[in-house]
Amino acid sequence: MIEIVCADITTLEVDAIVNAANTSLLGGGGVDGAIHAAAGPVLLDYCRTLDGCRSGEAKLTPGFDLPARRIIHTVGPVWKGGGHYEAPLLTACYRNSFEVALHYGVRSIAFPAISSGVYGYPKEQSAEIALSVMLEYEDRFERIIACCFSDRDAGLYRSVLKSLRVTQ
Ligand code: ADP
Repeated sequence: MIEIVCADITTLEVDAIVNAANTSLLGGGGVDGAIHAAAGPVLLDYCRTLDGCRSGEAKLTPGFDLPARRIIHTVGPVWKGGGHYEAPLLTACYRNSFEVALHYGVRSIAFPAISSGVYGYPKEQSAEIALSVMLEYEDRFERIIACCFSDRDAGLYRSVLKSLRVTQ
């Protein structure tokens, strides 16, 4: 089941939350900064051992002080106008995060809107990719949460999901 919520992802009690990280995996701003702040400094120590992460890939850590048991870190593409493999890379972020989740037996998972903040991906297009991949994996999870950070984003997600279900 896909749920669209407006929340701070660090508060969600799920098996895993996904982090929109950067290639260093050593923390940053936005949702990444919030996750590191809430998980505690041990997360950074753990991330130092992971040797970074390429755009489109996903790596798992414990959740440490978070209510979520695990964190799946993925690196979205920086929007450069659309002609630099942004769409396949963003699709890969969602797919690889789901594959890592399945590998570790995750049944409930929450995603932020990867790349749609500082990385500048147009919101509607990023929502279409996020929700299309969520629909592909819907049957394999108990809960898939699209965690938006504003009512406006949540509204956009709801209308995109509605139109994708109609065309399915
Ligand atoms: P990126 O660099 O991948 O664009 P950002 O963190 O800048 O990542 O933004 C990604 C999305 O996460 C944005 O839509 C932003 O509003 C949202 N966001 C920021 N903080 C949080 C949070 N604590 N919980 C959920 N979403 C958040």
